Amino acid sequence: MSTLKSVCVFCGSKSGNDPQYQQSAIELGRLMAQRKITLVYGGGSVGLMGVIADAVLESGGQVIGVIPRNLATRELIHPGVTEMHIVEDMHTRKAKMSEYADAFIAMPGGFGTLEELFEVVSWVQLGIYAKPMGLLNTAGFYDPLLNMVEHCIESEFIKPKYRDLIIADETPATLLDHLQRHELPLIEKILDPEQI
Ligand code: AMP
Repeated sequence: MSTLKSVCVFCGSKSGNDPQYQQSAIELGRLMAQRKITLVYGGGSVGLMGVIADAVLESGGQVIGVIPRNLATRELIHPGVTEMHIVEDMHTRKAKMSEYADAFIAMPGGFGTLEELFEVVSWVQLGIYAKPMGLLNTAGFYDPLLNMVEHCIESEFIKPKYRDLIIADETPATLLDHLQRHELPLIEKILDPEQI
């Protein structure tokens, strides 16, 4: 069982159409503060990003925001976080977020969230780093994506043992517990593409 000190949460810059998305962002934020897990996130105050940052801060937790200069206006940089890093571009943002975090969680979101989560999974698969990736599957939001992963496995584009690179849970508490005791599948650090 590893002790998580910080978790990077990828989340939509919108709040979605179901109040459960905001509710589970609040619950995740409160739990992270209670368990003394620092939130690392995109630094904005819009959508689920703002909701989770506020929830952690209101519960006395620590929040690190990482935002690219040119997005600081569009995503309305959060004024109250513990630490804010303003970086030059998206690549630096993602690199910094993964450097600061022991694990990742994707909450419901759009293209940006999906891109961020798949970068983590594909980089773990390549052995670039070894950190668990959790999906907060609120109200079954990610079921279609999990079905797509099964389809990739059945079609032999993803090895069955790499199914466990994504850890999905419906509630913040079970997801955090799961991430804490999770062991990554053994990654074959081989650069032959047939072996990946
Ligand atoms: P979205 O899920 O599209 O609402 O975006 C959520 C977050 O992902 C926002 O903070 C976006 O700035 C960020 N984002 C958007 N596109 C990308 C991308 N290509 N790579 C990494 N992050 C992104």
